[in-house]
Amino acid sequence: PDSQSRSSQLYARAKHSLPGGNTRTTVFMKPYPIYAASGAGCRVVDVDGVSRIDCINNFTALIHGHGQPEVVAAACAQIARGTSFGMPTEAEIELAELLCARVASIEAVRFTNSGTEAVMMAIKAARAFTGKRKIAKVEGAYHGSYDYAETSLDATPANWGEGSPLSVPYAQGTPQGVLDDVVVLPFNDIEATEALLRTHAASLAGVLVDPVPNRVGLIPASEAYLAALRRLTTELGMLLIIDEVITLRLASGGAQSRYGVVPDLTTVGKIMGGGFPVGAVGGRAEVMAVFDPSTGRPAVPHGGTFSANPVTMAAGLTAMRLLDEAAHARLNAQGDRLRDMIRAAFANAGLPGQATGVGSLIKVHFHARPIRDYRSAFPTAEEQGLLSRLVLELLNRGVITASYGLIALSSAMDDADIATIGAAFDDALRAIAASAS
Ligand code: PMP
Repeated sequence: PDSQSRSSQLYARAKHSLPGGNTRTTVFMKPYPIYAASGAGCRVVDVDGVSRIDCINNFTALIHGHGQPEVVAAACAQIARGTSFGMPTEAEIELAELLCARVASIEAVRFTNSGTEAVMMAIKAARAFTGKRKIAKVEGAYHGSYDYAETSLDATPANWGEGSPLSVPYAQGTPQGVLDDVVVLPFNDIEATEALLRTHAASLAGVLVDPVPNRVGLIPASEAYLAALRRLTTELGMLLIIDEVITLRLASGGAQSRYGVVPDLTTVGKIMGGGFPVGAVGGRAEVMAVFDPSTGRPAVPHGGTFSANPVTMAAGLTAMRLLDEAAHARLNAQGDRLRDMIRAAFANAGLPGQATGVGSLIKVHFHARPIRDYRSAFPTAEEQGLLSRLVLELLNRGVITASYGLIALSSAMDDADIATIGAAFDDALRAIAASAS
């Protein structure tokens, strides 16, 4: 910390107009956040002139890193032609066609401005389609900030109790009615999940699941778990909603293509906007018809002043076209390489730890316990402290990761960049081990 730094000064100023100086909880950092000045490729320069490798890429959104020239050109050209209209544009059709072509379960698409809204619209669609009101989700899984979707996000050993997961509220003031309408599932536990779905079948509209949930430990759902969810939702008259807001980066057909599951609805966001705000819900045409206004008032009206704005559409289309099969394969291979390097770094430092994740998504844990769900991934206070220390040690070695140990690679990184990140881990973990002994 340096009270003379420009970041520190900006933070002092921010406190006068933003609560706690902050407008996005996820980027808060003590004693003050590092303010970004610019980014190019895989590097970000902060307002004090320090350049670092960006391993978080705006929480997984910037799959091509910063300022990818073709994405910038597409966005700038569209900005000059108009940033948004009270009319549809051709670009929304093109991006919808791309999604329908790539993700087998998606036959029709609605665009939103964020993943939060995409999840919200998917839940509303499930309710309208089934005529039921409850939604089931996995304990601890993050799906944005719709009241129903954020339930149980804050479960801790102090409040999660014995047995079935509880509808623990995230924001204070969450209405009891919301909590009553959320069924919280234990991840990867087929037996317990089946029992819960059967118990609530008469009122459950759908099951919302992220196939590689970040906050659950970034371990994949077992194929058997996803297959069970597909079988049970069909049998019990519920929709299966797969949240691919983060995992769309794992394969051109999404994580669902990797794990062989066909949902009714899919939510996406992040990478699909080329760095601009975006979200979308897509799925079976029969279900997506709840949004169709062409034959009268739709079952679920959905607007949004900036939904499908042409700047997002143009940048997103360019970014997605650049993300071809070869780019996916390269990103996933680099993720595997870095995961191996991090595992080796833990071993070299003699510290217990593991690197989970799939492809270009990696998460670091300061324990070697087997992870199968939220509870088994949950860090002790000491492990959480070590993780915070690691994030700081990495920052000081020129590597930016998320405060909770998440890494998302970009196609702007070459093999030398991956080696640099691996070396920073090795050095940081040795420093932590040295000060602990
Ligand atoms: N779903 C998942 C799986 C996410 O990770 C996120 C955001 N990190 C969201 C939904 C919400 O997306 P947004 O931040 O664009 O609202």
